[in-house]
Amino acid sequence: MTIPRGPLPLHIRILLGLVLGALAGGLASALGPDAVGLVTAYVKPVGTLFIRLITMIAAPLVLASLIAGASSITDPQKLGRIGGKTILLYLTTTAVAITLGLILANLIQPGVGLPADVSARLLQNYGEQTAVRVERAEAVSFVDQLLALVPTNPFEAMATGNMLQIVVFALIAGLALTRIDSAKAAPVVGFFDGFTDVLVKIVEGVMRLAPVGVFALIAAVTAEFGFGILGTLGWYSLAVVLGLALHVIGVYGPLVYFGTRRRMKLGRFFRGLRNVQLLAFSSSSSAATLPLTIRAAREKLGVSERVAAFVLPLGATINMDGTALYQGVAAVFIAQVYGLELGLADQAAIVLTATLASIGTAAVPGAGLVMLVIVLQTAGIPVEGIALIFGVDRILDMCRTVVNVTGDAAVATVVAASEGEWGEVPNGAPPGPAVV
Ligand code: ASP
Repeated sequence: MTIPRGPLPLHIRILLGLVLGALAGGLASALGPDAVGLVTAYVKPVGTLFIRLITMIAAPLVLASLIAGASSITDPQKLGRIGGKTILLYLTTTAVAITLGLILANLIQPGVGLPADVSARLLQNYGEQTAVRVERAEAVSFVDQLLALVPTNPFEAMATGNMLQIVVFALIAGLALTRIDSAKAAPVVGFFDGFTDVLVKIVEGVMRLAPVGVFALIAAVTAEFGFGILGTLGWYSLAVVLGLALHVIGVYGPLVYFGTRRRMKLGRFFRGLRNVQLLAFSSSSSAATLPLTIRAAREKLGVSERVAAFVLPLGATINMDGTALYQGVAAVFIAQVYGLELGLADQAAIVLTATLASIGTAAVPGAGLVMLVIVLQTAGIPVEGIALIFGVDRILDMCRTVVNVTGDAAVATVVAASEGEWGEVPNGAPPGPAVV
C-alpha cells in the first residue's frame, strides 16, 4: 500500500496521515473492544513494518557514515574538541530542560488538586505495569556504564543496535584508517562512503511510505489508549507539554540562532526538521528517527557528514531533553499527590540524577518511564506513584521524543557552525557536497 506521490508535499501528507490516524483510532476506541481488536490486528502491523524498515537502516548508517567521516579527520585534536563541545552542550541543555520542568511543576502544581478517587483508581489500574518497570530499572554503576562503551564484539554491537558502542568502534576504525597506507585505505573509505549513500537512498524510499506508516502508528496508539485519559491528568499533561514547547522556543531557538552567529534562520531550521519531528512523534523513538535526522541535518540544515555522523547518534542515545523535562514534572507531580514537600536540595538532586539518567535512557518508546524510577528513588518519592501517570505516558512520550530529536539537531548545527563544518543552505535548498 503506497501513497501516490501527489502534488502535496511530504510533510503535509504525513500530517494528514497523523490526523486521519488519530481520528480512526479515536473512533475505534469509542466503538469498543472489537473495533480496537481490528485496528490492532490489521492496521498496527503496517506501522510496525514502517518502523522496522527505518530502524533497519540506523546501525549500518551510523557505522558507515562515521567510519567514512572519521577517516577524513586529519587532526585528531579537532575530534576531541567536537566531542567536548557536543557533550557539554548536551548536558547543559538537559540540565536546563529539567530545571524548567521543575519550575513549571512548582508553579502549576498539577498534583495538588487531583481528586482522591482518581488517584486511587489510577494506582490500582496501573499498579502491576509499574512493578514491571521498577524491576527493569536496576541501577548500573557509573564505571560499568563507562566500560560498556567499548564493545567486546563490534558485530554484536551492530546486531543489538547498541549505538554508543557502534560510535566508539567506528571512530577508532576511522582514525586507524588515516594511519595506514593511503593506497590500502582508499578502497575502504570509498566503500563506506558509497554504502552511506546507499543507506541514505533507502531512507528516502522508506519515507515515501511515511504517510501510511504514520497513519497506522497513530491509529494503533489512539485506539489502544484513547484520548479520555488526558482529561483526568489534564494539568499534569499541560505542564509537560507547555514545558516542552517553552524549551524548544526559549532554548533551542536562541541556541541555534546565536550559535550560528545568526546565520541559521529559525524558520529554516524548523522547516528542515518538519519530517523528522513528525516521525519522532509517531514512532516515540529517537533511535528509529535517527536515519532521517542524519539525512535532514546533512541535506536541510547543512551540517557536514562527519559532524552529523558523530553528534547525532551520540545525541539519540545520551541527549534527551524532553525526557528529562518530563521527569522533572513527573517527580514533582507524584510528590504533590502524595503530599510530600520537596525542598531545594531534593530538587537539585533531581536535576543531577535526571541529567545522568537521561544519558542512560534507551531511545525507545517508554524508556523515560523506566529511568524515572531512579529519579524518584533519589528524591525519596514512592515509585508506585508512577502508576498515576502511566495512562498518559504514551502520548507524552510522543511529544518528548520530538523535543529529544530537535535538541540533537540543534546541537549538531551549532557544533558544525563553530567548527567550520557547516555549509549554509541558501533559500532552504540543499547545500552543496557536505564539507568533509
Ligand atoms: N521515547 C523517548 C525517545 O526515544 C525516550 C523516552 O522518553 O521514553 O527519545
